Amino acid sequence: LKVISLLSGGIDSSTLLYYLKKELDFDVTALTINYGQRHSKEVHAARKIAHSLGVDWLYVELPELGKWLRSALTTPSINVPEVPETAEHYDTLAVTVVPNRNMILLSIAAGIAQSIGAKAVAYAAHYSDRGVYPDCRAEFVNALEQTLKLALDDPDFKVLVPFVSKYKSDIVRLGAYLDVPYELTWSCYKGGEKHCGVCSSCRERKRAFREAGVIDPTEYLD
Ligand SMILES: [Zn+2]
Repeated sequence: LKVISLLSGGIDSSTLLYYLKKELDFDVTALTINYGQRHSKEVHAARKIAHSLGVDWLYVELPELGKWLRSALTTPSINVPEVPETAEHYDTLAVTVVPNRNMILLSIAAGIAQSIGAKAVAYAAHYSDRGVYPDCRAEFVNALEQTLKLALDDPDFKVLVPFVSKYKSDIVRLGAYLDVPYELTWSCYKGGEKHCGVCSSCRERKRAFREAGVIDPTEYLD
């Protein structure tokens, strides 16, 4: 199967790329979209991950888009939340939602997919994200797949989400088995020299490695 897989440069999408290529033997092309994230660390990480696996890497730049999408990830005046280790940080995650992000990104991916003869798009929606991020839920995926079949006039077109029932720690365990070079990935919302260790994304990253029982190769500031 020829497939375009969204690659942000984080743990989940990097593991997905490795899984589609190494485990399922799909003909996979990675797609990274710059939608105006506040920092470019993850774009560099995405390129390195795609190259490490030897797959084609497509890069689309839409940096102006972020100006109009209200989120801590795109709007400098909204602070990226720092969360204490023990806190339940569900509420602080709300500012990190980018409105309609996966719908926008997958829509672009589907257009490119049909253009290059790919029959599916994939992204790393997973179970741990379903509470905060509506466009990571199974019902969204099913509805989008129906919509894309109509939009592309292709009844066989698929939206692949092999991790939708997995926790982030399951993904890390799978990635360790697939030899994903996690030291090349980037999760921190702040984009400093090293991972900050205290933003919600760094917290999730740390916890996923800990729960998976996999050694975390990341250098954290804190
Ligand atoms: Zn961080």
